[in-house]
Amino acid sequence: MLYTSTRDKSIRVTASEAIARGISDEGGLFVPVDLPEFSIDKITSMVSMSYIDRAKTVLKEFLTDFTEDELDYCVNGAYSAEKFSSPKIAPTVNIDGNKNILELWHGPTCAFKDMALQLLPYLMTVSAKKTADGKTIVILVATSGDTGKAALEGFKNVDNTKILVFYPVDGVSPMQKLQMTTQEGENVAVCAIKGNFDDAQSAVKSIFTDAGIKKQLAEKNMMFSSANSINWGRLVPQIVYYFSAYCDMLDMGKIKAGDKINVVVPTGNFGNILAGYYAKQMGLPIKTLVCASNSNNVLTDFLKTGTYDKNRDFYATTSPSMDILISSNLERLLYHMSGEDDGLVADLMSRLSVVGKYSVSDELLRKIQEIFDAGYTSEESVNSTIKSHYENYKYLCDTHTAVAVKVYDEYVKTTGDDIPTVIDSTASPYKFSASVLKAVLGENVPKLDEFEMVEELNRVTGVDVPAPLASLKNKKVRFSDVCEKEYMSRMVFKLLDL
Ligand SMILES: *Cc1c(COP(=O)(O)O)cnc(C)c1O
Repeated sequence: MLYTSTRDKSIRVTASEAIARGISDEGGLFVPVDLPEFSIDKITSMVSMSYIDRAKTVLKEFLTDFTEDELDYCVNGAYSAEKFSSPKIAPTVNIDGNKNILELWHGPTCAFKDMALQLLPYLMTVSAKKTADGKTIVILVATSGDTGKAALEGFKNVDNTKILVFYPVDGVSPMQKLQMTTQEGENVAVCAIKGNFDDAQSAVKSIFTDAGIKKQLAEKNMMFSSANSINWGRLVPQIVYYFSAYCDMLDMGKIKAGDKINVVVPTGNFGNILAGYYAKQMGLPIKTLVCASNSNNVLTDFLKTGTYDKNRDFYATTSPSMDILISSNLERLLYHMSGEDDGLVADLMSRLSVVGKYSVSDELLRKIQEIFDAGYTSEESVNSTIKSHYENYKYLCDTHTAVAVKVYDEYVKTTGDDIPTVIDSTASPYKFSASVLKAVLGENVPKLDEFEMVEELNRVTGVDVPAPLASLKNKKVRFSDVCEKEYMSRMVFKLLDL
């Protein structure tokens, strides 16, 4: 299997080149040239497998330049039992009738980013051995919270890698901040910056492309790479859990082989839902993919009207990991659905970067709408959804999951389409204890610090606190640097000993 670029389809690279490089030189994203096909028989043969074996079955079709031993090493290491709090890794839980929740947050950082970021370091180090002659890979991350911690946890103490994470000093939740500042590992560093997420992101991008810095790195036998979801190595692990969820639904007797399901995804950068699209194109019986957004509803507008317009107010919501106005992975969908029109994609992306806006043809919009539906929710409905699902089903959702659940309920109301459905749950409710506690209790929340809040939510609901969050309380803060955004590149030099 070979990969090409969304902005120049004459390019051909192997899986390991795509993963080690992260992004194509002309700025396009790597995509598979064609997709493997999974028959219903092949899918049903996966029902009796463990998550690890399901993952190997899917991944070996994409990572064709990895040997079987290499793939075993990567997948066994990533999804080992001691790192995940559920033996099923990503369990599917039925809460009512045809409503099923796919819990993607049983990994070490309690958010769905672990599903990919536990595997990516393995894929990247194996890829670098094949293509980058043993260079040390330096992962630079700008994070609004979940990606930073999941990447730190994935890359900590991985040979031949270093990871540096920058986060906006006032832009992450107290729990997210503690998760990062207490990070263990010999090859990690974390620094707060005075600025917002966009500042951190732009500074990281300019450091990435700075020829001088690149040269200095090369002299030390190092190279930069990205752990962001533009990297194919972050997307491909996410295809697995859609197959796994379908197998679990078969196993639970919720569907028969070949029955179609709907999938609902709380969406930010469009990575998670795009993995669902790939699964569907490979033959997984998915009818509709429902894209759920919070008040930052740029994707809802695009999927309803065909115009993508990032020039709008930005809202800081209680589902911060979805507070995004530029959904990078939409580029990959546009490439596939436009009949691989690389010229069109390059044009649309340049419009997006120059004027912040583009429109697609009615024909292309109709094709996209045959597969995707979309909706968004207000902050009040997030709270009432958490409360009603806790009261009616004793199921406690985090704020991001609640966005998806609410959008799904509205989708069923307006379309009547209530076939068996999988709703992605992307974070443990304890990662956002303050918001979840407020939703459950109404306004009567006592004034508490972060850990008291966790204990109170546990006392009120009886839902177990994930061990990685509970243990943070006793960890030492290792990283307290705060730097001006102008000094980020100097910080990189210092942290890398250049
Ligand atoms: C990253 C994240 C999302 C958004 O996922 P995308 O792949 O960027 O669409 C949703 N929920 C949580 C909790 C996340 O961390």
